[in-house]
Amino acid sequence: MKMSMKLPVLLKEILYPEGAVCLCCGTVSDGTRLCPACREELLYGDMLSFWRFRDLSGVSAYSLRPHRGVARSLVLQLKHGAVSGAANELASVLLPLPEGLSFSPDTVVTFVPMPASRRRERCIDHGETLARAFADRLGLPCRPLLARTKVRAHTQEGLGKTRRAANLKGVFQPLEPIHFPVLLTDDVLTTGTTALRCIESLRSAGASEITVLTATYAI
Ligand SMILES: [Zn+2]
Repeated sequence: MKMSMKLPVLLKEILYPEGAVCLCCGTVSDGTRLCPACREELLYGDMLSFWRFRDLSGVSAYSLRPHRGVARSLVLQLKHGAVSGAANELASVLLPLPEGLSFSPDTVVTFVPMPASRRRERCIDHGETLARAFADRLGLPCRPLLARTKVRAHTQEGLGKTRRAANLKGVFQPLEPIHFPVLLTDDVLTTGTTALRCIESLRSAGASEITVLTATYAI
């Protein structure tokens, strides 16, 4: 437990230690982070609309579940509740990958960098936590390839597509030259604007083989 944790997170860790209750419905679990019913729903609840493919400016983007039910609940726990265990549940239940999708061993898993202020506020970087969980599951290395510039970007939540695009212009800068395949991960794919800005930046650093993988899709 980190000493820098804020009080609500600290209290939650004390009241609900690892594995004591289901992350989604709160029922007492058998030492796992999801009760059997929630795990079952995550595995089979959306059988007719499992993963979804989108083309984002020539990049293949895969989302593993619709943004509802248990999958949505886990994303929100990770994003707003700073529950890092939710990332492992999402990665372990949602992977293996959609059929036909595979990655060469030199692929680097990366994530959308979070503003430093929000990282301090939320105690964890949920994007990085999820990327590392996916990377562990896939047996691939994970590291930051993008940084946020000082350009001020307001939160993307609640903004329309055009305002989202303008809001993020020039925000992401590459950290190194990229001559290897990249797997960009994120929690939820909505308009795809954030992913597109990251793709532009990764391409400017030389990346020619990019794939996007998100836990859920919202639209
Ligand atoms: Zn449950």
